[in-house]
Amino acid sequence: MQFHVITLFPEVCEAYTSSSILGRAQKTEKGKGAKHRGKKIEVKYYNPREFSKEKHNKVDDRPYGGGPGMVMHALPILKAWEKAVGRKAKSIKLKAKIKTLLMSPRGKKFDTAMAKELAGKYEHIVLISGRYEGIDSRVTQILKAEEVSVGDYVLTGGELPALSIIDSVSRQIPGVLGSFDSREEERVSSGEMYTRPEVLEYKKKKYTVPSVLVGGNHAEIEKYKTEQK
Ligand code: SAH
Repeated sequence: MQFHVITLFPEVCEAYTSSSILGRAQKTEKGKGAKHRGKKIEVKYYNPREFSKEKHNKVDDRPYGGGPGMVMHALPILKAWEKAVGRKAKSIKLKAKIKTLLMSPRGKKFDTAMAKELAGKYEHIVLISGRYEGIDSRVTQILKAEEVSVGDYVLTGGELPALSIIDSVSRQIPGVLGSFDSREEERVSSGEMYTRPEVLEYKKKKYTVPSVLVGGNHAEIEKYKTEQK
């Protein structure tokens, strides 16, 4: 799976996608026993500023019809998209494997079902991240992009939404999580969780792990977890 992120702040996003599980998923695994050895995902960044032909690489302008804030120009974003997947989109077969998502607080609400669908159906996901007041609507129209929201709140940019989507789609790809079974939606996971020490002493008080979890009775443990859910 290749993720192509169009953003004015690639370095902010890269810090996140190159760490921990997502970072590991972009490397080839060396271990002999590794089941999924190749790179599981790739994340590429495109800055619309680099595609701007204007003075000082300007990427925004005042909105037609008036109103507060600035609107991002369509062209630099369209050019960034061309650079990302333009060549592939020329082939009908490959085009079906490309999905373009545009981050918008008014878009379709993102959820696990969508993450699974994206992971299963596509090879290239382009994520367009807005700033300021948003993006010229002709980008959605021309690219037939799907507008997605990560929740009913407004952020200052589409970077966190894009990262959330990359993160959540990636963990649906076999080999990305240490164990595919780690996906809590596939098993009984308790809301509560504990690790060592069994008795935690904090400010003169003792906090003990529920005894059923240390008892070793698997049927009882499963029952406890289901009740906790
Ligand atoms: N005034 C605009 C808000 C712009 S927020 C409006 O009412 O639509 C600036 C950018 O942040 C948006 O272009 C979008 O890319 C991103 N954004 C903000 N909140 C978001 C959310 N909940 N989900 C997805 N993207 C969001």
